[in-house]
Amino acid sequence: MTDFRTSATGKFGCGLGTLVGPLAESQSYGYKRHLCNAYRCGRCRGRKLRHVRAQIAQVATARKLTRFVTLTLDPARIPGGTPSHDYLRDCWRKMRVSLSRRAGRSVEFISVVELHKSGVAHLHVLVGLYLPQAWLSQAWQAVGGGRIVDIRFVDVQRIAGYLAKYLTKDSLKGLPPGTRLFSCSRGIVLWPKKKASGWWLSFRSIDELRDESKEARSERWEDIEQVGIECLVWFEGEFLLNAALDSVLARRTSPAQGETRV
Ligand SMILES: [Zn+2]
Repeated sequence: MTDFRTSATGKFGCGLGTLVGPLAESQSYGYKRHLCNAYRCGRCRGRKLRHVRAQIAQVATARKLTRFVTLTLDPARIPGGTPSHDYLRDCWRKMRVSLSRRAGRSVEFISVVELHKSGVAHLHVLVGLYLPQAWLSQAWQAVGGGRIVDIRFVDVQRIAGYLAKYLTKDSLKGLPPGTRLFSCSRGIVLWPKKKASGWWLSFRSIDELRDESKEARSERWEDIEQVGIECLVWFEGEFLLNAALDSVLARRTSPAQGETRV
């Protein structure tokens, strides 16, 4: 039995294991190729970003966060030696206080950090209230950010399309590992915790398990590498002892759950 865990990260190699679990609606078991779902993984990044955008759009639509604010740092105001995204976070913390004062209540938001091509971080924020450009600019200067701000109204039907321009592979380039990409106001949950569903992670590959299964059906193939070759990503079948041996209980059972860090 090969140990697929990589020594560098201690994590299970992307795509090499299989998530296995009972299917509620039938007596059979589901077998799903386990992908690492990390932003840093070339195979998973695109899919993960699409998912994150969809999730943000869904929450923003439900809460009517239809004002799209961009806050840009003036490079001259970033203290020497401080990474721009650290400084941005400090400014944004103060800015949230200013916003709450103006609104007379805490303000709901979802924010996303991105890097400009110049390497300076900026922030996109979805909020639900109208803010005059002049006030926004003055407040952002007062907390040390800079003069350049932008606010625009996004039709609630179009939030998803609008966000597609942001949160791209390029916008994550250059952000150091562990950078927090999103923050939300209290009460907004982007990734609701799912109940443990009794699925586990088998160290056997889905291809190996598919070969063993005598009742395999509902197969699904996807071009996960985006190179024109389809891989088996899902099938349903009987309980396989080999899928239960050499396994660990999966802490995550769904690609929907994940860290919102680079
Ligand atoms: Zn991966």
